[in-house]
Amino acid sequence: MSTLALAFDLGGTELRGALVERSGDVVVRVSAPTMAGAGSEAVIGQIITLAGTLLKEHPQAKVVGIGMCAPGPLDPKAGIVIGPPTLAGWHNVPLIDILSRQFGLPVRLENDANAAALGEWRFGAGRGSGSLVFVTVSTGIGGGVVADGHIYHGRRGLAAEIGHMTITGEGERCFCGAVGCFEAVASGTALGRRATKLTAAGDGSLLRRLSNDGDVSARHVVEAARAGDASALDLVEAEAKWLGIGFTNLLHLYSPDLIVMGGGLANGFDLLAPLIRTTIETRAMPAYRDVPIVPAELGDRAGLVGAASLILWEGEPGTALAMVQDEETKNGAGGQAGALNQRSGP
Ligand SMILES: [Zn+2]
Repeated sequence: MSTLALAFDLGGTELRGALVERSGDVVVRVSAPTMAGAGSEAVIGQIITLAGTLLKEHPQAKVVGIGMCAPGPLDPKAGIVIGPPTLAGWHNVPLIDILSRQFGLPVRLENDANAAALGEWRFGAGRGSGSLVFVTVSTGIGGGVVADGHIYHGRRGLAAEIGHMTITGEGERCFCGAVGCFEAVASGTALGRRATKLTAAGDGSLLRRLSNDGDVSARHVVEAARAGDASALDLVEAEAKWLGIGFTNLLHLYSPDLIVMGGGLANGFDLLAPLIRTTIETRAMPAYRDVPIVPAELGDRAGLVGAASLILWEGEPGTALAMVQDEETKNGAGGQAGALNQRSGP
């Protein structure tokens, strides 16, 4: 059997694990509902259990390391999960130290959006490109930027928090406390909220029939728009405009070879894309207008295979992070950012 990585994608609702080959092929995968309210020790226990399950299924597997992704904010260089809003009781958890001691294997950590960007770049819609922006549009909006062949990390690995760039001065307050965040106006949640406001329970609209007179979700809007429903088509048009405004900012900031759109709302990509394109053509400067906007290809395995590639493609474009970290530690540089000082292990 070829060389494999253990990969884990820790989400607020689901914990996924897999054995992944260098090609990005998933040999076997498992999942469990994340014990998100139970604190970090319980969840790390789940990771260890899933690893046991995977290795039991493939006792001959030659596992060379563990690639892991988790919700931000996290510090990939220091290997610390700083405090994701979706996981209770996680405060500066040194996950790399804990897992490498447990398994005696090298461990790499990346935030989930960056890992998905890596997955799409190496194995999915972004193969062969030098720079891309991956945007995931679902409950919230997250992103990862591959810039000139590397994940762009910024200070403490916190770069590309694109869901919280301000794109308007109005609208509902974002969970981060600000008004006008990209996520607050363009996420699937925001689309569902607009649809719910536009209709009323019992009004007989297609949107409310699809939602059984409950709150309307983005999925219902896409479904109703496919059926030609006029109000759903209006909602899709407004949604595409917000996405187009956000994407225009990303084009101007990063000048990627392409933008890859994933997340739950990517199932309406064909409906949204022409209107996103129209917005970009009216807002972006001419040199940026012909950049392709494409749907993600890997679905919910993008994070897993991207995380695996942190181990299996280490030292190749986009994965030099650990080596940079080692160099920084050796030279004593980089410590002033504070991140490296928090390393509790060797
Ligand atoms: Zn925000």
